[in-house]
Amino acid sequence: MSEHKKVVLATRNKGKVREMERLFAPLGWEIVSLDEFPDAPEVVEDGETFAANALKKAAIISAATGLPAIADDSGLEVDALGGRPGVYSARFAGEQASDEDNWKKLLEELKDTPNEKRTARFRCVLALVEPGKEPITASGSCEGAILREPAGSNGFGYDPVFFLPEQMCTMAQLAPERKNQISHRAKAMENLLAAIRGMGR
Ligand code: IMP
Repeated sequence: MSEHKKVVLATRNKGKVREMERLFAPLGWEIVSLDEFPDAPEVVEDGETFAANALKKAAIISAATGLPAIADDSGLEVDALGGRPGVYSARFAGEQASDEDNWKKLLEELKDTPNEKRTARFRCVLALVEPGKEPITASGSCEGAILREPAGSNGFGYDPVFFLPEQMCTMAQLAPERKNQISHRAKAMENLLAAIRGMGR
């Protein structure tokens, strides 16, 4: 359909690049990773929303490479904590926090929260910035609840304590291929693809 286009994905994560390649294959777009641009700047994620961070990363990488760029930002929103940790998900327990430090802090903060109030969602926002064009953002979310104990060893981040009612297991108990089908990131990618098609790019 649309022309061959080279797009930089503003991440060095090979898994994300592979997912994007598969998704954008029907558009004929070639997805390249930041590894091809060793001089590209590190972007500080200091925005107050996922969209602000994704747009900032995509804009800086597009300007640095002269190519269209796609960036993502994601995190966990817990209703009983007013949406926290949100954009601070990666550093909830401190700048150098491990995944385990982060989910342990979460369980501690929620220890007096009853089961029916432990609802949460993973959210992902993707931004596409193309030189000379309006930026496009798309979002995806995945609803669940925070358990009291971890279960499962797949995935990363808060996956072991994130229970998916529809799957009857935690995100960390899902096969990686299944997670890739139902995750907030997968939904955001689908929505970005639909937005790109809708705008005739
Ligand atoms: P980033 O958008 O890749 O920087 O992720 C931000 C943080 O949100 C991660 O460090 C995790 O703590 C959390 N997070 C985002 N996506 C997931 C997920 O799929 N599972 C578990 N944690 C996630």
